[in-house]
Amino acid sequence: MLKVEKINTYYGNIQALKGISLEVAKGEIITLIGANGAGKSTTLMSISGIVPPRSGSIVFQDKNITHVEPSKIVTMGMCQVPEGRRIFPQLTVLENLDMGAYLRDNKEEIKKDLDYVFELFPILSQRRNQSGGTLSGGEQQMLAISRALMARPKLLLLDEPSLGLAPLIVQQIFEIIMRINEEQGTTIFLVEQNANMALKIAHRGYVLQNGMIVKTDTASALMEDEEVKKAYLGV
Ligand code: ATP
Repeated sequence: MLKVEKINTYYGNIQALKGISLEVAKGEIITLIGANGAGKSTTLMSISGIVPPRSGSIVFQDKNITHVEPSKIVTMGMCQVPEGRRIFPQLTVLENLDMGAYLRDNKEEIKKDLDYVFELFPILSQRRNQSGGTLSGGEQQMLAISRALMARPKLLLLDEPSLGLAPLIVQQIFEIIMRINEEQGTTIFLVEQNANMALKIAHRGYVLQNGMIVKTDTASALMEDEEVKKAYLGV
């Protein structure tokens, strides 16, 4: 579904990504783990077209999207849930969800997806007329994921969904991510500092260090890897 080949991404003179290559197959949950500043968010932003790489290539569903506009990439079936949620605080929950479906026009299908996100997160249904900014951190994360789902993505990019949330809420959100993958067949690319949680739900993983992929394997093998245990799992 997604093939990233040798991308190099810069912020001015600073090289954030150094020859990153990775692949995501249809139906997989893939996680990219790494420390603060390793380049996880930059990888996602390069894939979604927000910070395009200076060299290398990104192919999504057999189309080269390396220099395609982010909004066009969304219409092609890829959607990103940014770090820190970035919901629209002044808009209600419903209006935020409407924004997710902005590029679609089939009202019946949009309604179906709205029912589905309310089934996934009943609390959002209860809070549908409340402004986004008044929600708790966990509820805002639920809203950010739901808003992305309203675009009906084939590939969902998630940037640190666990950030700043209580363990119980993190657990709940990760269970929903698995449900979305199983029920909708949505392919998931999950960036996380919480490697423990991410490797528990992922099929495969990549380890990022200083802008480079230093390891890749099945999630279960990475969980048993001594270096990964020491550096990322706190074991
Ligand atoms: P975190 O978990 O803290 O979000 P990360 O792994 O997602 O970290 P990135 O945010 O991708 O890492 O940052 C990778 C590198 O690029 C870091 O050295 C960071 O300082 C730098 N960087 C990120 N954004 C910018 C920017 N807008 N301008 C300049 N440098 C940046």
